[in-house]
Amino acid sequence: METVYIGLGSNLSGSMDDPQQQLQNALAEISDHPKIHQLNSSCFYRTSPVGPQNQPEFINAVAQVKTSLTPLALLDYLQQIENEHGRERKEHWGARTLDLDILIFGQQSIHNTRLIIPHPRIEERAFVLVPLLELKPNFSSANGKSTADLLAKCSDQGIVKL
Ligand code: ATP
Ligand code: CA
Ligand code: CA
Repeated sequence: METVYIGLGSNLSGSMDDPQQQLQNALAEISDHPKIHQLNSSCFYRTSPVGPQNQPEFINAVAQVKTSLTPLALLDYLQQIENEHGRERKEHWGARTLDLDILIFGQQSIHNTRLIIPHPRIEERAFVLVPLLELKPNFSSANGKSTADLLAKCSDQGIVKL
């Protein structure tokens, strides 16, 4: 069983649910899988978009789970949940009903056409770093920077705990 961290984000309402509810439902759907256990969620945060600025603010959170799935099987499952939430892939880093990224998968380091683990942009994103540190206070950067340094670097990114 591996301990895995998943980043969640939404800035569009689906057919029924606002972004906060999308995240709430996604957490329930993730923990519904028979091979995913012990889900813990960070707080939810309201955050400014990265990339294109002409889109609504995001709601972001991070979940910690234990799983016996392989990384690719977990990615398949998360993409299935994204699709069920009406995820459409249009503009790069554009608005979306639901985004589920695998941030950390145990100690594994993976680099293939579908998956890069650890997620390569954890450290530059306050909306990932802040909720991740809630669940994994000992997170350490690949290049040895302290969490204080990492947080200071992205301190200009708008993020408000809900
Ligand atoms: P970013 O990766 O910068 O957060 P994004 O989440 O908007 O961007 P997507 O369009 O959701 O990117 O995903 C594009 C592809 O990224 C996916 O189809 C998936 O195969 C790939 N991918 C690579 N590494 C990961 C990962 N660690 N978690 C989720 N998807 C990943
Ligand atoms: Ca993402
Ligand atoms: Ca993604």
